[in-house]
Amino acid sequence: MSTNEPALKAKIGILALQGDFQEHSSILCSMGCSSVIEVRLPEHLNDIDGLIIPGGESTTISKLIENYDFTTSLEDYYKENNPIWGTCAGSIVIAKSAVGLEPWKPLNFIDISIQRNGYGRQLDSFQTSLTINKLTSKSAFEGIFIRAPKIISVGKGVEILSVLDNQDPVAVQQKNVLATTFHPELTRDFRFHQLFLDLVSKNLLDQIQDE
Ligand code: GLN
Repeated sequence: MSTNEPALKAKIGILALQGDFQEHSSILCSMGCSSVIEVRLPEHLNDIDGLIIPGGESTTISKLIENYDFTTSLEDYYKENNPIWGTCAGSIVIAKSAVGLEPWKPLNFIDISIQRNGYGRQLDSFQTSLTINKLTSKSAFEGIFIRAPKIISVGKGVEILSVLDNQDPVAVQQKNVLATTFHPELTRDFRFHQLFLDLVSKNLLDQIQDE
């Protein structure tokens, strides 16, 4: 599997306020990405070509987004059509509506409604083989679900990339925004990160063509 040149040179930011940002960083470095940036302050967003919001605790991440005055900068970053990917807690933070996130409001970057801890508590965490449309190879992807949120509805413009046996969507995409309710960063399977890097490089090429 080869990752194309522009993607490896792209600057990928990972929101590093709380959660498993280091695991994302480690995968991207293993893939050969030359510039992986831990985003800790709003101004760090100015310098990146794609943003990952990691798993962790969505209430804590939302609280820190507010405390560090990140909201407007994140909204601007999204409005500029930059690729954004939320995993697990990150998918809650970027949803249109999120049951259980109160008093915080999600950022509304992707038209999904999501429910925190929708499959139960820690003991109900599970692992299952997923088929994911759009991946470079079609072999099963091991989905790790840890106190995972449940996507309870998706809007018209949202593409469903993968579902559980019960048909719950678990990977969704709307334009340049991806959300997964499981944790590709906790596997050594790089294919989902590759999908995100492809989105980033396509966006960079589109920007060059528009200039
Ligand atoms: N249950 C967590 C939350 O609501 C998400 C867990 C995770 O990211 N693994 O934020």
